[in-house]
Amino acid sequence: MQTHLACLTQAELSEFVGSLGEPAYRARQIFAGVHARRLNSFAEMTDLPRELRAKLDTRAVISTLTLESRYISSDGTRRYLFKTLDNRPVETVFIPEERRDTICFSSQSGCPLQCTFCLTAQLGLLRNLTAGEIVEQIIVALNDAYGIGVKTPRGTNLVGMGAGEPFLNFDPLMKAIRIMKEPAGLHIVPNRITVSTAGIVPRIRELATISDRPHLAISLAAPNDELRDELMPINKKWPIEELLSACREFEKSLKRNERFTFEYVMLDGVNDSDEHARQLANLINRHRLHAKVNLIPHNPAEPLPYQPSSTERVESFRKILESKGVHAFVRRPRGRDILAACGQLAARSTAQGASEARP
Ligand code: SAH
Repeated sequence: MQTHLACLTQAELSEFVGSLGEPAYRARQIFAGVHARRLNSFAEMTDLPRELRAKLDTRAVISTLTLESRYISSDGTRRYLFKTLDNRPVETVFIPEERRDTICFSSQSGCPLQCTFCLTAQLGLLRNLTAGEIVEQIIVALNDAYGIGVKTPRGTNLVGMGAGEPFLNFDPLMKAIRIMKEPAGLHIVPNRITVSTAGIVPRIRELATISDRPHLAISLAAPNDELRDELMPINKKWPIEELLSACREFEKSLKRNERFTFEYVMLDGVNDSDEHARQLANLINRHRLHAKVNLIPHNPAEPLPYQPSSTERVESFRKILESKGVHAFVRRPRGRDILAACGQLAARSTAQGASEARP
């Protein structure tokens, strides 16, 4: 069994390197090779002696994901479709933005939740990803976007909003976040990361107790239990009242000026009326939450039975929230043409924007 290096913290890597009978500084070189220089082979780690590189080749692998295809949207968004060693799909999206680029990573292959508006749900849960499989997604996207090992021009934000429910894979996710924050490695601090959950209440409460943590987003999609039960069946386990009281506890743990976010997918004629907007604002205000709301026009995909709300509808909804003191923003869809937008990740190939696997 070969050791998967992208999966190891600095301390674990030191232990592994020690077990090979090598001094500690070799571990620092290897950690930098994997995470700062973002190299994909020991052969390229020319600061290591040839014999050590040969030994590493037999005992370890740097990465395990294979890039199967890469799709590039007309808006510049890139979608990567990987396969794990056991042939499970993993998708990652790179979103170029004016101020700072964003990488959207997956926490699971497929997803066990059955949100009716999300295409990933149709895969079911294939399996949880390891910390290393999460870290690797970021390494490949950074190398593709900027060049191998090239420093990110303006830093990068990460969002855990790809396939899967991050809070059903909590420990590997938090481990990946610890690995990525190392100054000697990727150096992406938790403050640059937002993790989105469909509402796994115990994990929201747990996150509230962790000090060095990512930002939180909660997918709401409906302002009452009746509708939310239908759109997001996880609501039957943790209904809105329980969810929002966990949110309240989380909010109490935030620093001044920090906010968490609600995401609200806008489904034409389903959850987008003025009355829904009033209910949503009342709900947030009744729980004395200061969260902001991101309105996400639905990204349609066959065979999902929904259409996006019209621009005017979204605007009217937003204005009602604002008039009741709830800050709301409309998210611009990105990468829809290559099935890279929110809720469109289902390991599909698209004729649009396809290119060879190796950039
Ligand atoms: N399971 C987590 C992480 C996925 S995040 C969660 O539910 O939060 C994906 C985000 O995209 C969620 O906010 C979800 O509500 C939204 N989404 C899912 N399907 C969508 C679709 N078809 N169009 C627009 N947004 C969608």
